[in-house]
Amino acid sequence: MKRISPENKLIRKIGRIADRNNVSAYLVGGYVRDLIMGKEGNDIDIMVTGDGIEFAKYVAVEFGKELDSVYKNFETALLMKDGIKIEFVSARKESYNRGSRKPDVEHASLEEDLSRRDFTINAIAAGINENNFGEVIDNFGGLQDIENKIIRTPLDPFRTFDDDPLRIMRAVRFASRFGFEIEENTFSAVREMAHRLFEEGVVSRERITNEFLQILMTDKPSIGLDLLYRSGVMEIIFPEIAELEGVDQRKDFHHKNVFYHTLIVVDNISQRTDDLWLRFAALVHDIAKPRTKKFIEGTGWTFHSHEEVGARMMKNIFKRMKLPMNKLEYVEKLVRMHLRPIPLAKEDVTDSAIRRLAAEAGEELEDLLTLCRADITSKNPDKVSKFLDNYDRVEKRILEVQEKDELRNFQSPVRGDEIMELFGLEPGRVIGEFKHRIEEAILEGEIPNDYEAAKNYLMSIKDEVLKH
Ligand code: ATP
Ligand code: MG
Repeated sequence: MKRISPENKLIRKIGRIADRNNVSAYLVGGYVRDLIMGKEGNDIDIMVTGDGIEFAKYVAVEFGKELDSVYKNFETALLMKDGIKIEFVSARKESYNRGSRKPDVEHASLEEDLSRRDFTINAIAAGINENNFGEVIDNFGGLQDIENKIIRTPLDPFRTFDDDPLRIMRAVRFASRFGFEIEENTFSAVREMAHRLFEEGVVSRERITNEFLQILMTDKPSIGLDLLYRSGVMEIIFPEIAELEGVDQRKDFHHKNVFYHTLIVVDNISQRTDDLWLRFAALVHDIAKPRTKKFIEGTGWTFHSHEEVGARMMKNIFKRMKLPMNKLEYVEKLVRMHLRPIPLAKEDVTDSAIRRLAAEAGEELEDLLTLCRADITSKNPDKVSKFLDNYDRVEKRILEVQEKDELRNFQSPVRGDEIMELFGLEPGRVIGEFKHRIEEAILEGEIPNDYEAAKNYLMSIKDEVLKH
């Protein structure tokens, strides 16, 4: 018999409270799964046979706290303790009415409860009472599936996804997060049931989008995005991304597959940032390529203005997917500007070109350059390092120009009052002239930016300036 040994002291305590109240309590869900995979989490799910909310109340009293929330309909209660989220739930079975994801909930045995869970890796329980502490209950081969890196439903996958189509998104999310494969029959069901995600009133857009964004937050989002594409889910939830797949061929010219290019860009950027919206911008940066695509005789494939058209597509996409509108402008800007730094990587670029980019990108400049770096997907490592060096150079130039610009707003270290006093002058044009000459000398690097040097320089130009 497999045992686990949770480190968290709260679990022992809850187990003892269960003993005193004659309740059978179990660890379930993600906490057990993650522990088996070698990682102890901060979300503890406790299932009790009997009344979960009632038991949660006992625990709250013993911890000297109130319950943080109670969901009567779902028979769950939440208790926060020392930064740990403890969720109590009654063992239950569910029966579904087609057309609604709201199940009727009924008390049930441990076995019945485990069987209604989404995946075998999430359907493992472990006792926490004195007599069975740490003993694993694995009725559906979840341990084996963790070992083999497989996502599989405990019962018939078609039925499972039909009952709650959000599980389709969850299957892809877990596969992407852990780098697991979706078992063949389960994947067939994902494909066949994908349309259920689109049926009115079954799953809310917010919940689908929430899962989608979580997929984007995994270490290697391409796994999940590719699964969404191959299962037909992408076409339903984000058709513009699905459209990126495909390559047109005209005579000897074909362009690269934008979908697979995009996946690499998203993986690249995910190695550089955990910022969800920067990752999202990477996902959509080439989104208008299919609709701007043109074959031009003698030139080949072009995607003229795809960055502008792409930026303009964002608003509708944000609305439809119920994405937070306060992120719209940021994503639009990155899409619109994603090509701009490329020509600036040349040797002979003027300060003013650099300055314009920096001014337009504003706060987003660093993120823009991160996106550009991630956008390099050449398979030739020499080229990649050359292109990366180019962006390093752009970044350096920007810093240089900004430093200079800061100097432009600075003032001569020798003040006007002092100049007037030194030379016995009245306020007027010539004072400005002295100051300007000192500032220029500093900007040109002729003298250092300090008082002593400025004063010496002032004396050296005195006669020349006063002469006219
Ligand atoms: P995470 O680490 O992302 O929180 P989790 O497995 O803990 O992963 P939760 O959404 O917190 O996922 O749900 C806790 C448990 O409840 C799951 O492990 C699973 O057993 C069950 N569960 C959650 N959502 C569903 C669902 N839609 N259908 C069936 N079982 C579900
Ligand atoms: Mg959880």
